Amino acid sequence: MLAEIITIGDELLLGQTVDTNSAWMGGQLAAHGIRVHRITSISDEADAILVALDEALSRVDFVLVTGGLGPTRDDITKETLAAYFGTELVMNDAVLETITNWFSGRGFDMLEANRHQAMLPEACEVLINPRGTAMGMWFEREVDQKVVVSMPGVPYEMKGLMLEEVFPRVDRHWKLPTRYHRTLLTQGVGESYLSELVLEWEERLESRGVSIAYLPAPGQVRVRLSAVDEDAKAAKNRVEVEVAAFLKMAGDYVVSELDESLGSAVVHSLAKQHLTLSTAESCTGGAIAASITSVPGSSKVFKGSVVAYDNHVKETMLGVSSVVLLEHGAVSEAVVCQMALGVKERMGTDYAVATSGVAGPDGGTKEKPVGTVWIALAGPKGVESKCLSLGNNRARNIERSVREALAWIIRTAK
Ligand code: AMP
Ligand code: MG
Repeated sequence: MLAEIITIGDELLLGQTVDTNSAWMGGQLAAHGIRVHRITSISDEADAILVALDEALSRVDFVLVTGGLGPTRDDITKETLAAYFGTELVMNDAVLETITNWFSGRGFDMLEANRHQAMLPEACEVLINPRGTAMGMWFEREVDQKVVVSMPGVPYEMKGLMLEEVFPRVDRHWKLPTRYHRTLLTQGVGESYLSELVLEWEERLESRGVSIAYLPAPGQVRVRLSAVDEDAKAAKNRVEVEVAAFLKMAGDYVVSELDESLGSAVVHSLAKQHLTLSTAESCTGGAIAASITSVPGSSKVFKGSVVAYDNHVKETMLGVSSVVLLEHGAVSEAVVCQMALGVKERMGTDYAVATSGVAGPDGGTKEKPVGTVWIALAGPKGVESKCLSLGNNRARNIERSVREALAWIIRTAK
């Protein structure tokens, strides 16, 4: 089934607000087996709204609209939709009560403009929005059962309505084939190399009713395999057979078999094995720790981090030898290994990872050019290290170092 999205708001056209609603809705609709055919952004003008609705409904069965539902005079979506569907605005008592409670709960005075938000088109099904005062609306066109849904522009209100009110109605209104997909996270291999590695298999995928998508990001590629079928079990089986085939060919590069971040994969992998981790970070400045602690449940595996930027901190907090620092410099194999061993011992963890490098854009030398990053991983079997030669973009160097470190932990602790 095809859908279109219309986002309404002058601020979107002026570049004051980025249209994140469409991106989120596109992802959710795709996961639901609904393909977004077109996204249109228009101003808060009745003519623009009427034309956009007419055009979208001439192409697709389902049109999702966000924005223009606020209490201010520039918000005219509701009135325009009522006119489009030839219906009156009527006071909805249940909604009026919801809005009144919303204001009294927050101790705010309610204005006439807010009361007006309970005036809703008679011919729509009201989608109650518990997060704000603008309700959602579900219109069905009598002649062909095509649907227009209108939601507020505030992203978290829209998301709540989509998940709690819109999708359940979509499932009742249309019988959609089920879509099953699996996403595998690979690291340390480029998209083209990966595609080359699995070329023959990939060429046969379509005839087996499975589609593949590569979703690349610096240093990692997500591989998504999906199938659509009336029979949910059949879709799942088809995908799972190909996931197994992919793992056989490229399993060494796969760091997670779930659709998750590398940080989340580290947490889940270590938690499953009851292992703990600490970090000692110079050039990554705590970014490895941050990518782990942003994952719910990370306290089970993560003990702590020392951001050892200055040599004095490396010596006093991690026990790095001043002689070694003087002889090899902070960006060296010897120092990064001592950092990892030092933090592992002090925090009493099973694994510890350490980084020391020249993140750039300045500060490089002939022997240690910008982008030189040493990473060490200390574990039950001792300490290992590796040297990365990255570019001169500071942010990207930090990001790549974090990914390398996280993927290394996953592979080693497997
Ligand atoms: P509205 O429903 O038009 O009153 O929108 C309320 C707020 O939601 C606006 O102030 C915008 O900041 C935000 N908003 C509106 N449309 C979008 C959109 N497409 N993506 C992200 N934010 C939006
Ligand atoms: Mg607006």
